[in-house]
Amino acid sequence: MGKVYLTGAGPGDIELLTLKAAKVIKKADVVIYDRLANPEILKMCKDGCEFLYVGKEDGKHILPQDKINEVIYQSALKYDIVVRLKGGDPFVFGRGGEEGIYLKKKGIEFEVIPGITSAISVPAYAGIPVTHRGISASFRVVTGHEAPNKETSQIPWENFKTDDTIVFLMGLHNLENISKKLIEIGKPKDFPVAVISRGTSKEQKTIIGTLENITYLAKGLKTPALIVVGKVVELRDSLKWFKT
Ligand code: SAH
Repeated sequence: MGKVYLTGAGPGDIELLTLKAAKVIKKADVVIYDRLANPEILKMCKDGCEFLYVGKEDGKHILPQDKINEVIYQSALKYDIVVRLKGGDPFVFGRGGEEGIYLKKKGIEFEVIPGITSAISVPAYAGIPVTHRGISASFRVVTGHEAPNKETSQIPWENFKTDDTIVFLMGLHNLENISKKLIEIGKPKDFPVAVISRGTSKEQKTIIGTLENITYLAKGLKTPALIVVGKVVELRDSLKWFKT
């Protein structure tokens, strides 16, 4: 039986892959990967390494999660070194936890190799720190996949009244609902928002606006994209550094 490495691939810029991830990718017998991982990473693999694509796009799966779990398990029966490569960090909306639980049940050994999450690094590449002394003392990373008007919402919207930074992942298609909901709970209409598309890559694009106009301004932006809500967005004027 092989060992599975639940591995973070970082947000896009290949140099944001960790040394530990690179080491195991070079040794892998099979790499099971999804869309967000920079495909250039696969070029590091040894000859004969097998590639299995089980990609997802904004929560839409090519394969349902239980099938992905099974693919990983079956690979571990067949190969020694199995790398399950995921965009960003495997435990930040990456369902790496579910995969680990499945493997544990099946008696397969695994290791987690954390990755640089897009939630922090993509804002950083846009010149937006998620915390900043005197401006924001905490930040939240929230799924934007769930429609805010859903009655059974698991998102504690009422807690978002503070000025702390909120980063929404998987939320571009829900941007209008999210902005409306934040205004509804009492945030000012002119509260700063950034939407960053394809962060850390050469195609990175950042749109700055307010809760009131961001939906209009961000029309047509490509995925993957994330949303940053908070006064830290204004620091971009001074901290913008990454040129695409
Ligand atoms: N595990 C990943 C997140 C998976 S959820 C991580 O830690 O980064 C997928 C969401 O991440 C996308 O819908 C998008 O909101 C965000 N995302 C991932 N890569 C991104 C990138 N390069 N630029 C902007 N957003 C990104």
